[in-house]
Amino acid sequence: MSISADLRTQIRQRANFACEYCGVEEVDTGGELTIDHFQPRTHQGGDELENLIYCCVRCNQYKLDYWPLSTTAPVLWNPRQEPRSTHLVELEEGLLHPLTPTGVFTLQRLRLNRPPLVAYRSRKRQRAEEQRLLAQYGELVAVLGKLHQQLSGVITEQQKLLKEHKALLMQLLEQR
Ligand SMILES: [Zn+2]
Repeated sequence: MSISADLRTQIRQRANFACEYCGVEEVDTGGELTIDHFQPRTHQGGDELENLIYCCVRCNQYKLDYWPLSTTAPVLWNPRQEPRSTHLVELEEGLLHPLTPTGVFTLQRLRLNRPPLVAYRSRKRQRAEEQRLLAQYGELVAVLGKLHQQLSGVITEQQKLLKEHKALLMQLLEQR
């Protein structure tokens, strides 16, 4: 491996510390991920930054040294060149659905619908939904707090008025 520590750090940061194929993060796996040569070294791929992809062990294992050897051979999705949404769409239950032949091939080759990964995506979605609901709840509490403050102001004002009325009445009664 001729990838320097500096280059490795650069690759990790560029990928936001997550597998560029499947999205699993370092913190989920409890360790650093691997580095994949998109064009494998066995097929003349080099160590330049554009050919290096931060990649989890599973995706790397499934991808191996795939490289299309003819113009008709299927092509893998290159996360360095296109966003995932070009070739794959995530369904509600965490399953990926292919949109292009490249999407179909990548899904099969990298087993991107492997059950633990689908469960991982589904859990991530659930967490995002929970966060959204929590934020909404927070907003509601803030509005209620404001309303409560306004109401307290009105009540104080009313009490003051009542006191004044009472004083006036007392004055009237004393004058009689
Ligand atoms: Zn992966």
